[in-house]
Amino acid sequence: TERLLQKSDKLALLGQMAAGIAHEIRNPLTSIKGFIQLLKTGTRKEEYFDIVLSELDRINEIVGGLLVLAKPTAAVFMTQDIKPLLKDVVTLINNQSLLNNVQILIEFENDLPLISCEENQLKQVFLNLLKNAMEAMPKGGNIYVVVKEKEAGKISVQIIDQGVGIPQERISTLGEPFYTTKEKGTGLGLMTCYKIIEGHNGELHIHSKINEGTTIEVILPTITQPLLKMEVSHS
Ligand code: ADP
Ligand code: MG
Repeated sequence: TERLLQKSDKLALLGQMAAGIAHEIRNPLTSIKGFIQLLKTGTRKEEYFDIVLSELDRINEIVGGLLVLAKPTAAVFMTQDIKPLLKDVVTLINNQSLLNNVQILIEFENDLPLISCEENQLKQVFLNLLKNAMEAMPKGGNIYVVVKEKEAGKISVQIIDQGVGIPQERISTLGEPFYTTKEKGTGLGLMTCYKIIEGHNGELHIHSKINEGTTIEVILPTITQPLLKMEVSHS
């Protein structure tokens, strides 16, 4: 029956996920173990330390991605101006991008409406997207972040890179857990983005052209201005 089918489907999916997660976490763990052993005797200690740290970051990223899949831990939605939020994210990633010869340029339309969001989650989304854009440009280039009011009630944030692009037939695969083309990728970044944006009643669209670049557009609902209401309290 339908119910049984659902159950076995769920178990199959769980098995697939578990295998994927175990694999993804075991890789950096194995590498950390190896480099810690080398730290005892090796001569390039600085380098080993950096590798160990970046492998720990990777495990942290994987676990963070999985937590987003778990039930939301009382997400706190607040009224926000998207401008400072995006500026914070760019500041966070700017050093790393400049080291990679990548410039991030932001363009804001005037008088943008406010949004309601879980600030840290939304920052995570834009951080993941900017990181992907940067990683798609091994030779450097510009990333444009264009923010505008798309239509009444919707704000659009476009992240436009000049990177390697994504094959058309691959675009629908993006967002599936563990799909990555990177040697050190987790394949959880876009999945996390989709999940968070969905939780914000928004949309995420991907347009791409091989060797020209990729545009990721995040659309978020804005706050509808409530009619001015005056309340008189009698106490
Ligand atoms: P990861 O970055 O760990 O590989 P993501 O979920 O963030 O995982 O991305 C999945 C895959 O989607 C990447 O490995 C890459 O192939 C592709 N991708 C995502 N963003 C871009 C982009 N801006 N340009 C080109 N390819 C991209
Ligand atoms: Mg990524």
